[in-house]
Amino acid sequence: MSTIAPGSPPSSPVISLENFHFEYAEADVIIRSSDSYEFRVLKIYISHSSPVLRDQVAAISFPQWQSGVNISAGTSLPVVQLFDSGAVLFSLLTYIFPVPPVLPSTVEHTIELLSAAQRYRMDAILTHVRNHIAQQEPPFIREENSFLVFSLARNRGLNQEALRAARSSLKLPTFTIDVLEERLQLISCASLYALWRYRQKFQQNLESLLPDFVASSGRKTLKGSGRSGCTGPAASGIPGWLDRYISLIGRTPSHFSLSMFYAALRNHVRSSSNVIRDRCHHCATIDIPALWAALSAMYDDSVSEVRESDSI
Ligand SMILES: [Zn+2]
Repeated sequence: MSTIAPGSPPSSPVISLENFHFEYAEADVIIRSSDSYEFRVLKIYISHSSPVLRDQVAAISFPQWQSGVNISAGTSLPVVQLFDSGAVLFSLLTYIFPVPPVLPSTVEHTIELLSAAQRYRMDAILTHVRNHIAQQEPPFIREENSFLVFSLARNRGLNQEALRAARSSLKLPTFTIDVLEERLQLISCASLYALWRYRQKFQQNLESLLPDFVASSGRKTLKGSGRSGCTGPAASGIPGWLDRYISLIGRTPSHFSLSMFYAALRNHVRSSSNVIRDRCHHCATIDIPALWAALSAMYDDSVSEVRESDSI
């Protein structure tokens, strides 16, 4: 078995993404994947990165070494058999050893990587992987893959990713069988119900925050913006078009966008301006950036108030 001479650092590993090759010349343990990829690496890095793997490495006794795999004539190494795939383990090793980190190429493997780091209690590496994922462009979790990520992450207890996927799913236009038909193949009934509950909770939060919005931000933004009040006020005290727009966001959060907000305002102002003198001067002079900022704050609060324990 090769060993590292005292005081001399190990050589750099030879790695290749193409065939998931990862090998140290001074390797003293083999990590074997579920699909029989073998990674010849150094125990010390593995043990320092994970208390779970440290115990597994330590548990390998000499008799078991005999069934290890030769890496050169006359030598054998202890083998740690893991249940993760070669693609996932290769990626995980790039976060453990001093080499450029490599994220998996698929959503499924990326979730498996996060799951492995969590399962092996690699807290620092889990943070590192999440930070790396956060730098991806386009973002790892998007509206179009939100169902898949939510389902995978929820099944593996990755609450952060499940919650982010649930938030992203709010951008889906509607939550009906017709529109979701293709996505339903990606998600279990339990996960679908959890997503539906998430939307319900979001809507409840939005409704509960509306009175505060009307009393503070909204009123402040709308006040003094015209010579007279809105030509179509709602009972809540804000212009009717804005009241209807907020209700619409509650039912279909995908309508929360600056362009749709502006369209709602423009339609109101235009509908009142067929006869110039009847035009709603109040809403025509609204400070759009300030009102949008206030609305955005209410939307963000409604989203962030949905805790993991509520539905995920
Ligand atoms: Zn108006």
